Amino acid sequence: MFTSFKETGKDGPAAAPEAPAPTTPKDETPDESWLDFRYKPADIKAHLDRFVIRQDDAKKVLATAVCDHYHHARMMRERQDGTEEIEFAKQNVIIVGPTGVGKTYLIKHIADLIGVPFVKADATKFSETGYVGADVDDLVRDLVAKANGNIDLAEHGIIYLDEVDKIASSGERLGRDVSGRGVQTTLLKLMEETEVPLYSGNDMRSQMQMMFDFRKGEAPKRQVINTRNILFVVSGAFTGLEKIIERRLTKGSIGFGTGSRETIRPEHALREARTQDFIDFGFEAEFIGRLPVRVVCDALAEEDLFEIMKNSEGSIIRQFEREFAAYGINAKFEDSALRLMARSAAVEKTGARGLMTVWERTLREFKFELPSLGLGEIIIDEALVNDQAAALAQCRERAKTVQVSVAAREAETFAQHFTRDYGIEIRFDEDATRALVERSAREGSPISELCRKLFKDYPFGLQLIASNTSETSFTLPRRAAEEPDRYLSDLVVASYRRPNQESNSQPS
Ligand code: ADP
Repeated sequence: MFTSFKETGKDGPAAAPEAPAPTTPKDETPDESWLDFRYKPADIKAHLDRFVIRQDDAKKVLATAVCDHYHHARMMRERQDGTEEIEFAKQNVIIVGPTGVGKTYLIKHIADLIGVPFVKADATKFSETGYVGADVDDLVRDLVAKANGNIDLAEHGIIYLDEVDKIASSGERLGRDVSGRGVQTTLLKLMEETEVPLYSGNDMRSQMQMMFDFRKGEAPKRQVINTRNILFVVSGAFTGLEKIIERRLTKGSIGFGTGSRETIRPEHALREARTQDFIDFGFEAEFIGRLPVRVVCDALAEEDLFEIMKNSEGSIIRQFEREFAAYGINAKFEDSALRLMARSAAVEKTGARGLMTVWERTLREFKFELPSLGLGEIIIDEALVNDQAAALAQCRERAKTVQVSVAAREAETFAQHFTRDYGIEIRFDEDATRALVERSAREGSPISELCRKLFKDYPFGLQLIASNTSETSFTLPRRAAEEPDRYLSDLVVASYRRPNQESNSQPS
């Protein structure tokens, strides 16, 4: 099926190889570069370093496992015409680590880089049979959906199962245990090698999709998905595993070398995890045996959270900057604010997820109100983080000044055009400009339009006054903006009382 692959240089992956003959109409995708996997572990780590802060062990181990897995898959494709079988133990991965420390983020960026589909689910939602909970086979079908129907690509995707520690069995938690063990067994088959039907017999949506595909003449020729080349990554917090390891280490006091039990820190203990520890935790030996690559992701400290905001390419700060920029607002985040937020987020104990929570809470009102204030910039500093209400009040004040100066310019332009067109000079005093700003906001019409409407009788009225009093220059006060007609008519009446006076004594 896969006929030829281009040779690559030594500096990384090659350009897309010649596309394979499509097996189905849907099997064509424009980007086939995943077929010619040529990455080295360091390439993948370098990519991850751009986004993921810390977790160096995890980056290296994952990068190596992913390279082993996809190089093997490529070599198998290249030998497809030959009969030679290569022995290979699949490099499925188990990641131990608390929530929000980048486990999913690592896998997602690996999948993005190498161009394979990626699905994530919580192990807790599955049941053994699929009748009660979801069916594990659905994960494989989801990969096909993510691959836009390209089965070859789906067969090289990554399935990521979180909360896998919840399907461990232990004497204490009996109810869930039975099904937990069952889910382990069904997952085992997927992780090894099995064929999953493209359309599920149990699932209405799948049946309808099948009918739809057939009717459109798009039914794929292959109706099963082989899981041999799908990479499985499972993860969980594994609370209590460190105690099991600690017990073993302190009992034997070999391999760890610290001697006293008190000095073993949980993250150190977790790095010493052996197969037996996972079995003692409640996993079936066969299940854990299919997950040979084990790695720990560490909890993130306050300083790490600061680093994430400051230096990760995927930092939520970039996201906020983009969101404000959509309204033409340049958002600037000061380090002092980032430090305060890192401290608050660390208290949440949800890793980097805490950052989103605290920033969302802090900027909520600003995100709502700022787009309507017309400000071009917001500086997110310590003062704003400490007192949002005061900072928002300042923004409103600043916005008023900005609006007034913009409006003043517009009103001035109107006045200049008036002078040019009618030979009579008008100006708005500061109070009149404010009144025009307020009115334009209230009525939702721009200053220029408002002025044209309010002062439509002024050319005639002021020319009349000019002929009565010889006045050709008028400074309009607030009242002119509030009651333009009455103000004008008062002026006109007054001009008849004092014809041809030099002074500009206007009613106020
Ligand atoms: P989990 O470990 O529970 O899978 P995620 O990887 O989903 O957590 O992290 C949630 C979000 O937090 C990510 O989308 C990312 O924005 C951010 N994040 C978490 N850990 C890191 C990290 N080490 N470096 C950079 N960003 C991170």
